[in-house]
Amino acid sequence: MKAVVFHEFGGPDVLRLEELETPSPGPGEVLLDVLACALNHLDVDVREGVSRFPVDTPFVLGIEVVGRIAAVGDGVESWQVGERVMPFLMATCGDCRFCRSGRESLCTSAGFISFSTSGGYAEQLVCSTRHLMRVPDELTDEAAAALQIAFGTAWHMLFDRGGLRAGETVMINSVGSGIGSAAVQLAHIAGATVIGNASSDDKLARAAELGMDHGINYAAQDVVAEVMRITDGRGVDLVYEHVGGKLFQAGLDSLDKDGRLVICGGHSGEVVPFDIIPFFRMQRSVIGSFCYLRSEVEKCLELARQGRITPLVYETFALDDAREAMEMMERREHFGKIVLKP
Ligand SMILES: [Zn+2]
Repeated sequence: MKAVVFHEFGGPDVLRLEELETPSPGPGEVLLDVLACALNHLDVDVREGVSRFPVDTPFVLGIEVVGRIAAVGDGVESWQVGERVMPFLMATCGDCRFCRSGRESLCTSAGFISFSTSGGYAEQLVCSTRHLMRVPDELTDEAAAALQIAFGTAWHMLFDRGGLRAGETVMINSVGSGIGSAAVQLAHIAGATVIGNASSDDKLARAAELGMDHGINYAAQDVVAEVMRITDGRGVDLVYEHVGGKLFQAGLDSLDKDGRLVICGGHSGEVVPFDIIPFFRMQRSVIGSFCYLRSEVEKCLELARQGRITPLVYETFALDDAREAMEMMERREHFGKIVLKP
């Protein structure tokens, strides 16, 4: 099979299209023909060797995959050759105290797919049936590949961790990103008032089409002042944060009394000053969020099947053009997912 491999850490030029031996599925595993694999910023961190995950070279990237079952290993009975499936992002153990209590994203021995198996920048991939979810016929391969991380993360943050309810006001940071645009769609159909911010008016216009009620251009406007103007001085009930640095600070300052800030990332500033006094006097909460649950992805697959949410695909590339695809992602001009299609 063909796969995009890197042998040393570095920029996009370390990627090589190579011929690898086709993996064969062991007991409880399936072989997938990869139909589509979405790119993620984690791929860049892994390629550059700064992901803080244990990565040995040579390595095949790709954690967000849709595939068709091409072969099944011993003991696999409930999955058939020809079914279109999506592996859950994490290889969870099913047995630890978190897995047993329905919190599998906190599994004590989980590995990400492509760390524990081979990756999705390839024609084929072997993974455990424990990963698998069925993909509805209504979704294209590309749309299904674009759904899992963006919508799964958004669902977990907004509803499970953030407790968003109909009638509340939420501010979504960086609505041009995959998880930002997914959160706009989910918060909108949940009956919340959605304030979003982005670095350009173009991105705000796209987010407005997805259900955003008010847009703030953080390159040109003061986020906190705009939030206070829009909410008549109250602030928002929930801030959806994944950026860090100044947007984290602005998010805290934009909260109403008893407001919550839920956060899953901080690339733009991972260590920030924190003013304790207004935090407790206003009875605010900061809530961490990690990954998402299989059941949450399945709810999003159903909403996409009904046409109530739309996974956004910006551009599709052939496997040979993986370098170009990664370069496009690293320029951060895209709105929606970049997808490889072997
Ligand atoms: Zn576990």
